[in-house]
Amino acid sequence: MNKVLISACLLGDKVRYDGKSLFTSSDILQEWIDKGRIISICPEVSSGMSIPRAPAEINGGDGYDVLEGIISVMENTGNNVTEDFLRGANNALKLCKANEITVAVLAEFSPSCGSSSVYSGDFSGRKVNGVGVTAALLTSNGIKVFSQHQLTEANKSLALSEEYHEICGISY
Ligand code: SF4
Repeated sequence: MNKVLISACLLGDKVRYDGKSLFTSSDILQEWIDKGRIISICPEVSSGMSIPRAPAEINGGDGYDVLEGIISVMENTGNNVTEDFLRGANNALKLCKANEITVAVLAEFSPSCGSSSVYSGDFSGRKVNGVGVTAALLTSNGIKVFSQHQLTEANKSLALSEEYHEICGISY
């Protein structure tokens, strides 16, 4: 049975920078939980960052720019946390590889987990098209990344992936 990687905050874990969760109630999520499909991670906490922590934003680009080393992730205090974000992204990728995960559902707008929009980098609340650092790394490694607003699409992708494994006779 294929597993799905989920942002820990979406499951109710109080791991966000403000010490809160982003609990998301959904029949699809509940079904995944009941079937034991879920593997969760908070990339930022996995990298050693504290709860709570200062808010951070990608400084004028997106996660792909961070992976290329041309843009930093900065806290609103001016502290550069790029290395922490890269470490967290790599932790998430390792978890996916260890569990043969091909589908991830990550929390939108986060500088780690956002999959279509992130904050602009000036702490003004403005959002721009782009992905977070973890979402960029997973996508670059062939993992399909969805937001919590795309659970139906994620579920379809999971079913297709499972079908593919069955047709090819791959056990997991
Ligand atoms: Fe949630 Fe991802 Fe932010 Fe952790 S890094 S709090 S999992 S959005």
